Amino acid sequence: WLPVVCWLFAMSVRMGHTIQEVILMALFGVFVWTLIEYSLHRFLFHIETRSYWSNTAHYLIHGCHHKHPMDSLRLVFPPAGAAIICVPFWNVVAFFASPSTTPALFAGGLLGYVMYDCTHYYLHHGQPSKDPANHLKVTN
Ligand SMILES: [Zn+2]
Ligand SMILES: [Zn+2]
Repeated sequence: WLPVVCWLFAMSVRMGHTIQEVILMALFGVFVWTLIEYSLHRFLFHIETRSYWSNTAHYLIHGCHHKHPMDSLRLVFPPAGAAIICVPFWNVVAFFASPSTTPALFAGGLLGYVMYDCTHYYLHHGQPSKDPANHLKVTN
């Protein structure tokens, strides 16, 4: 995803934004991503489901990860799936932002996602010994 992020930053620069502005927009994108990830996990991924189909949907979306947390092939979201999800997210950003700020804001969100996935992967498969990483890893 990182080449895509760089390419989008360059797009905003070409449309007339300075590097400083692009960095600010990227930080904002990372911040918004963090809020989205938290809300998704808190309110959607761990929703209480009762019916057969909602249980199945929940398992496919997120339950499988908690069932098999150390399965390294089911740890990071597949790129093809992420690419599809990018489209509505891009449209939401484009709705609120101007054409020249949309690429940088979106790239910031994408960057936040990449950092989140790397942190997540590391917490599962790494052996953090120092805080804050050590504090984040809870094994039960
Ligand atoms: Zn979870
Ligand atoms: Zn996990």
